[in-house]
Amino acid sequence: MADYNKLNAEIIEKLKVIAPNRVYVGEDINEDFTHDEMPIYGKFTPDAVVEALTTEEVAAVLKLCNANKIPVTTRGAGTGLAGGSTPIAGGIVLGTDKMNKILSIDEDTLSATVQAGVLLQDFYDAVAEKGLFYPPDPGQKFATLGGNVSTNAGGMRAVKYGTTRDYVRAMTVVTAKGEIIKLGANVKKSSSGYSLLHLMIGSEGTLGIITEITLKLLPAPKAQLSLIVPFEDIKAATSAVPKLLATGLNPQALEFMEDDIVRMGEEYLEREVFPKEFDGVKAKAYLLISFDGENMEKLEDVSEAASETLFDAGALDVLVADTPDRIKSAWSARDSFYPAISEATSELDECDVVVPITRLADYLEFVRSLRDKYQIRVSYFGHSGDGNTHIYFLKDNLPEEEFQKKVEAGMNDLYDKAKELGGLVSGEHGIGHAKQAYLAKSLGPVQMEIMQDIKRVFDPNYILNPGKVCYKL
Ligand SMILES: Cc1cc2nc3c(=O)[nH]c(=O)nc-3n(C[C@H](O)[C@H](O)[C@H](O)COP(=O)(O)OP(=O)(O)OC[C@H]3O[C@@H](n4cnc5c(N)ncnc54)[C@H](O)[C@@H]3O)c2cc1C
Repeated sequence: MADYNKLNAEIIEKLKVIAPNRVYVGEDINEDFTHDEMPIYGKFTPDAVVEALTTEEVAAVLKLCNANKIPVTTRGAGTGLAGGSTPIAGGIVLGTDKMNKILSIDEDTLSATVQAGVLLQDFYDAVAEKGLFYPPDPGQKFATLGGNVSTNAGGMRAVKYGTTRDYVRAMTVVTAKGEIIKLGANVKKSSSGYSLLHLMIGSEGTLGIITEITLKLLPAPKAQLSLIVPFEDIKAATSAVPKLLATGLNPQALEFMEDDIVRMGEEYLEREVFPKEFDGVKAKAYLLISFDGENMEKLEDVSEAASETLFDAGALDVLVADTPDRIKSAWSARDSFYPAISEATSELDECDVVVPITRLADYLEFVRSLRDKYQIRVSYFGHSGDGNTHIYFLKDNLPEEEFQKKVEAGMNDLYDKAKELGGLVSGEHGIGHAKQAYLAKSLGPVQMEIMQDIKRVFDPNYILNPGKVCYKL
């Protein structure tokens, strides 16, 4: 393990010169900075929080910290789900959320350049004003774009448009030594050596600090339509997914959910969104599907063709939401699942494994078997178009120790099964420190060593987000 130094009064004074009135120590540190959205992975108080405003400030902080071997954990909005922005080695939390300026939106090159702390929702709103569209659609709209890039966030529209990675053209990065570098360019293609740009994407603050990002945009689709599709069980629902994708109808989003999670979501929202019974048959699972396109007429044809395939695949019905209000209502239910689950139990742990879409039905059958095996409530939903499932172990009234034991054994089962089916540890949430052991088991020693070598080249003193992804404390 690297030998870190403690922050002393002299270094704190220097930080205050770099970021006047934006250095917090002791009781002035907000508790939020001790964890992300998964406090179950531990709370760790940093020695100081520094809120940066510019690339140059970030560079000055890193120069100082590198010279003094002080750990630096970067934090966007702290909405991560893998303990990524948690300062487990102490030192400094470097907050980027005040770096929130949209620097330019260029309609000619269909791109925008932002500071890393811009919130996703603010970015959507700004580009929509110009008739443009930023497709990545992670569920949490109050995450920062820097956080999205650093975790390669996915979300609902990945099935059609890809993940955050597919929209990053260039970025400004501060290296561990405090050098400012520009990766990529505002161009559509590149064969210009190793792609450090793509190495930085998904690196969770372990290789450098991203301060500015140039993102690709698209013209906004003119029409949208959603389908709520009930099935007798989840196996029928997920088995319909490859059939629908094979039609080439290209859904913008394709989500699956079971009746228990729908009920939790509706209780949370205090309104019923999904019908429950069809000709005397109870719906136990649903697909929620969205299409976008040029105009409503074309989408109606698409909806008809999709319905045919879905009925052939065993759908109990196909309900069309074709007005903004109905579409919003259906998707607000989907957006409520995570807060609804959190509210429905005393504590939870989660994972977001990804498997090939043709193996999703088998995988979910296995997930369900864990309910009996461990006598614990297990809920799940996910992005069926990507084979990416969010699985939650709910503590309810279990004693803490028993819950932890069941979760550990259950998570091991889940990751082993995902590997057996050709899947990976995380589809979109990242590794942080919570999933490190599973990553190592899934990828094996050769790949982990290559990652550790890369880490050493970027960050010789291991000051950047210690104890995350491939570098264990
Ligand atoms: C209700 C809910 C729904 C969610 N839905 C989705 C979803 O659908 N898809 C999805 O992918 N995720 C989802 N998430 C997870 C989370 O929102 C994403 O991981 C998001 O990308 C994190 O952004 P953040 O700004 O909060 O980053 P943080 O949590 O602050 O940080 C995440 C990681 O990125 C690093 N980091 C942050 N900013 C920078 C930077 N500028 N430079 C270098 N490293 C940096 C941090 O060190 C940390 O390792 C959801 C979370 C919640 C709570």
